[in-house]
Amino acid sequence: MLSKVIDQANIDHFAKWMARAEKIVIVSHISPDGDAIGSSLGLWHFLNAQGKTVHVIVPNAFPDFLKWMPGSKEILLYDRYRDFANRLIAEADVICCLDFNAIHRIDAMAPAVQSSPARKILIDHHLYPEDFCQIIISHPHISSTSELVFRLICRMGYFNDITKEGAECIYTGMMTDTGGFTYNSNNREIYFIISELLSKGIDKDAIYRKVFNTYSESRLRLMGHVLTQMKVYPEHRAALISLTVKEQKQFNYIRGDSEGFVNIPLSIKNIVLSCFLREDTEKPMIKISLRSVGSFPCNQLAAEFFNGGGHLNASGGELYGTMEEARQRFEQALEKYKPLLNEKDAK
Ligand code: 5GP
Ligand code: MN
Repeated sequence: MLSKVIDQANIDHFAKWMARAEKIVIVSHISPDGDAIGSSLGLWHFLNAQGKTVHVIVPNAFPDFLKWMPGSKEILLYDRYRDFANRLIAEADVICCLDFNAIHRIDAMAPAVQSSPARKILIDHHLYPEDFCQIIISHPHISSTSELVFRLICRMGYFNDITKEGAECIYTGMMTDTGGFTYNSNNREIYFIISELLSKGIDKDAIYRKVFNTYSESRLRLMGHVLTQMKVYPEHRAALISLTVKEQKQFNYIRGDSEGFVNIPLSIKNIVLSCFLREDTEKPMIKISLRSVGSFPCNQLAAEFFNGGGHLNASGGELYGTMEEARQRFEQALEKYKPLLNEKDAK
């Protein structure tokens, strides 16, 4: 049995909306990851089965390793089909906002979503949700939005309506947001849910291979290159990797090729914080990804030094400037957080 994470009042409220809604739009964050796509498609499969007209819209493209997911071909990319997407958003009865806590995370879609008269529900697990939805289902201690979607469907009484395809999507989101159940994954109910998803006939081993073991040769060579250039700060128990636009060109970089790189330095003994700096190809900006082990709050560091945020162990931010400036800023952060980084319990 699962414990009741989502408030009953929110379940009842959403169920009431659903009974009346015909047109539903599901939106998720820019540069969608496995949980953004998994939770969106998980909910999409379910609502389709309820006979609703449902569309998933995301701001831009998602990585190739998610393209096997059932329903992924139906996902609308806002940067390609803006007019059509705007019409769907404006005419929706309900908009479901999945896997983001702040309206700016849906980038260029934000004005359309904000101005739509649709009722809006947030289903998310990031800290400090902004107040742009009438129903807010926000549970930062839950490791994925996909898990919340599963919990929501079950609590509404529709476990039997979850299909194998829907289960595959939910499983993918749960798996990717926990690094294949290697972090944020000590809640035993996760494994109860996996057991329930397996009862739908999913092949979890095949899903793992499809997501994690289908990389291109150039991605693997890029990984080798990035790791060769890695800088380690033993006194701060931290490591830094980076990727410039020039290197991206050199290795025929395509979106998603560096997904997961930031986790690799954490496999070094005693390293509790990893930082990945990626130079943006369009804006004069560095995208920062941070990962930590144990109690080190990398979201606090991201907020304080990189105008960002996220979870305790996985966070990110941005810096308008050069790679060198971003590196210096990271080193300043390391100095400030040195005592915390050296706390005994961290690894
Ligand atoms: P990633 O490193 O995978 O891009 O991001 C990890 C997590 O950090 C995301 O799930 C999100 O919670 C958070 N995050 C990433 N970039 C930003 C950002 O620019 N601003 C904020 N507030 N959070 C971010
Ligand atoms: Mn997520």
